[in-house]
Amino acid sequence: MPSAASRSNLQLRNLPSVDELLCSSTGIDISSNAGPGHATALVRVVISKLRTEIVDQVRTDRSKTELLTLAENRLRAAWHSAQLTGVRRVINATGVIIHTNLGRAPLSENARRAIADEAAGYCTLEYDIETGKRGKRGRRAEDLLAELTEAESVLIVNNCAAAAFFVLTVFAAGGEAIISRGEMVEIGGDFRVPDVLSQSGAVLREVGTTNRTKLVDYENAINENSRLILRVHPSNYRIIGFTATPTVESLAELAHRRGLILYEDLGSGALTDLSGVGLRDEPVVSDSIVAGADLLTFSGDKLLGGPQAGIIAGKAEFVERLRKHPLYRVLRVDKLAYTALEATLDAYRRGSAATEIPVHRMLSLSKNEIAERAGRFVENLDGNLLCELIDGESAIGGGSAPAVRLETMLIGLRHRKMSVSRVEKVLRTAETPIIARIADDRVMLDLRTVSETEEIELLEILTHAFGQSPA
Ligand SMILES: *Cc1c(COP(=O)(O)O)cnc(C)c1O
Repeated sequence: MPSAASRSNLQLRNLPSVDELLCSSTGIDISSNAGPGHATALVRVVISKLRTEIVDQVRTDRSKTELLTLAENRLRAAWHSAQLTGVRRVINATGVIIHTNLGRAPLSENARRAIADEAAGYCTLEYDIETGKRGKRGRRAEDLLAELTEAESVLIVNNCAAAAFFVLTVFAAGGEAIISRGEMVEIGGDFRVPDVLSQSGAVLREVGTTNRTKLVDYENAINENSRLILRVHPSNYRIIGFTATPTVESLAELAHRRGLILYEDLGSGALTDLSGVGLRDEPVVSDSIVAGADLLTFSGDKLLGGPQAGIIAGKAEFVERLRKHPLYRVLRVDKLAYTALEATLDAYRRGSAATEIPVHRMLSLSKNEIAERAGRFVENLDGNLLCELIDGESAIGGGSAPAVRLETMLIGLRHRKMSVSRVEKVLRTAETPIIARIADDRVMLDLRTVSETEEIELLEILTHAFGQSPA
């Protein structure tokens, strides 16, 4: 009887070498797709893992051919998972409209077309067709935003976190920023107000209490080091009950009387009044401008429904100081973002945001409309899946309006034989991944976030994956 160690040694002799695996049919195939360097790296990982398993006696008594086959299978699997790490289109069946993990706002048809047709190649990013000279970067998107927000001037940077950091760095570094205790919040996507403040070099001056802050609290905190008053829209949570915060008007009046700037971080950035679709507490950007805020910031890819961007709007005197600051060069956006923003904002200007911007379309879908679609959907789906229509709720997501309830009709799926987590995985790893949630021992699909074209695709994927009726 050979000892454990010598059994391992015998097995190790059967382990394919890096070259043997690279020269196998799988190795050759993957080399041609992945490039020889990456293929070699994958092969090394596979072989080293197998070697460890042999030494640890997890693998015993395999012939040379068996080990090669096993290694080839492992290599194919490693290549397959490496492929899955890239950015790929998915069908969002979660019902979360602004899903940060799934790329937040889906772009409008016009924005998609504009990126492909206008921006992907050479374009007039900083070129003026009329004069044939250098043009102003981002001009049209900024002009559109100024018009829609009623701001004197607008500047676009990489995201709202960058915008907030930029404003605080330029206008509050070395001094104090006064903020209500109730607004020292963390917002989805790891944006923490206190962290951004301290990175900017501004000293935080908290006033009031978590639930109530009065104008006089702000006033009492003002001293010779004060630079600005910061107001943060607590996008992703609500304190309800005994609460108070001063209005933008009264804060603006106080700030200006004492020679300070009023800066408001709105986050979600609704350009239009969305109370018609249930978002009653969401501030409209132009209201804050009209109320006297000097500067405000919001995201491009939340309620606005465009690409990732941070929009800074406000008084020309302050916005132009930001434009000339060296940090602007660090934070500016690319041609794809400007182009998508222009196309998105054009829809607002034409008054057709409600029908053209996907985020707004999804927000406005009624439960009845979704129930009708869901009903038709399950009629076409009778394979091994047991389907039910279940009352549920969609979510806005992206840290926006957590208190809003969006009623929906969910499609609950169970399989005659497979476990629920297995069904969810089959969907997630389909050719076009379908992202769904599991609840009440069912895979739940919410058609609110699935477009009508995607619905057809979704049906095909389900039919293909789970087959026709056994009857
Ligand atoms: C979402 C949010 C941010 C961060 O915006 P990004 O565009 O994700 O950088 C900042 N402030 C508020 C109030 C927000 O809601």
